[in-house]
Amino acid sequence: MSSNHEQTTVVIIGAGVTGLTLATFLKRSGVHCVILERKNRAYIELRQRAGVVDARGVRMFEQWGLADKLLAGPVADIIEYRINGSARVFQTTGDDGIQGRFCTQQMLVCNLLRELIDVMDGDVRFEVSDITIRNEEDELPQISYTDNTGLHTLTCNYIVGCDADRGISRSSIPEGVLTKYSYEFGYAWLAALVEAPVKGNPIMAVSDHGFVGQLPRGPHRSRYYLQVKLNDGPEQWPDARIWDEIRLRLADRSIENAHVHNIDFVPLRSVVYAPMQYRNLFLAGDAAHMVPPVSAKGMNLGLYDVDILAKAILLAVHDNDTSALDNYSNTVLPHIWNYQDFAVWMADTMHDAGEATQHGSFRQMIARARLDNLFNSPTAAHLHSEYQRGVN
Ligand SMILES: Cc1cc2nc3c(=O)[nH]c(=O)nc-3n(C[C@H](O)[C@H](O)[C@H](O)COP(=O)(O)OP(=O)(O)OC[C@H]3O[C@@H](n4cnc5c(N)ncnc54)[C@H](O)[C@@H]3O)c2cc1C
Repeated sequence: MSSNHEQTTVVIIGAGVTGLTLATFLKRSGVHCVILERKNRAYIELRQRAGVVDARGVRMFEQWGLADKLLAGPVADIIEYRINGSARVFQTTGDDGIQGRFCTQQMLVCNLLRELIDVMDGDVRFEVSDITIRNEEDELPQISYTDNTGLHTLTCNYIVGCDADRGISRSSIPEGVLTKYSYEFGYAWLAALVEAPVKGNPIMAVSDHGFVGQLPRGPHRSRYYLQVKLNDGPEQWPDARIWDEIRLRLADRSIENAHVHNIDFVPLRSVVYAPMQYRNLFLAGDAAHMVPPVSAKGMNLGLYDVDILAKAILLAVHDNDTSALDNYSNTVLPHIWNYQDFAVWMADTMHDAGEATQHGSFRQMIARARLDNLFNSPTAAHLHSEYQRGVN
């Protein structure tokens, strides 16, 4: 087995949306970095998940001079909240004039890969395995990995773990350093990617039969989300049942069956690991925190992390000032907790307001009062807009 030893400034583990965004910001600013990714490029380009870059994310890409190159898709400023078939349209508003975009995570990732690798000649190493991290006090960190040419070692100044919940970065941190805060909501979503576009508004619907949502995923497809039981699997949900439930929960018999590309079962849960750093290792995105998809904030919180982290790394590398890096975790965590609160609000309101069996008829009426409030109180509407846009 051959052995190569190289040096770089930053090693990023994981070429998902957070790792690629961070690398693009750093590379544009003249900081050398290497991404290590276990999958191949084609696999990453096909992975479809989130659908909205919120207004904060749009503003961030504008500030880094990348919005035109990376973002596509219509403005995302309307959501239809539907209760037992009765629709009310909520429009998000903001004084700065910036709105979110229905830019799918897949589109953003493809654009990032093109910009980073094909345009800027960035260093992304796919299909690596057996990553090990050495992150000792008063030493430069070292990362070892193998690929089809053998064993490699990288010495760097900083490691950033963007390798999501089951990655290697967080698990390399010694036991007892991080505190895990987690919450299980007790139900799951069936996420079905279908060959049918959203025809009117994106919908979040509550009904006596449970939650259903329909959100755009490009011009020809959408993703339906159905509230299901925690232990449900594909055998309980053949395509015909999915379409029957969609019609029932949306109270719309005119919806026709379409091709279902794939289904996933996503247990709704929230997790935060704190602090989000240990010595020269920093965590970002799903490696540090997760929110249920009902909030549409998972990708957006990862983008927030790497905006703060990229600026902190630039300060350390260009000005030899590590104060922002030292404070990274303390800077981002208040925002993460704020959006965990929003995610709990969305999850409770969308699910409790529907099925009375979820948390009882008392909570059902409370959740419906909360939804009413969005349309009756300008103050409540303003706060909800801020959360939807990601700007508070
Ligand atoms: C069905 C679904 C719907 C969602 N909907 C939304 C939504 O509407 N809005 C929203 O904002 N968010 C949504 N999310 C959440 C969002 O997709 C995630 O928060 C986002 O992908 C996190 O980005 P990340 O870069 O941290 O992790 P990922 O995108 O998961 O990327 C992690 C990368 O690390 C790599 N990796 C892992 N382990 C290793 C290792 N040991 N070595 C090397 N590489 C490794 C992986 O292969 C992957 O490429 C949804 C998620 C799901 C599953």
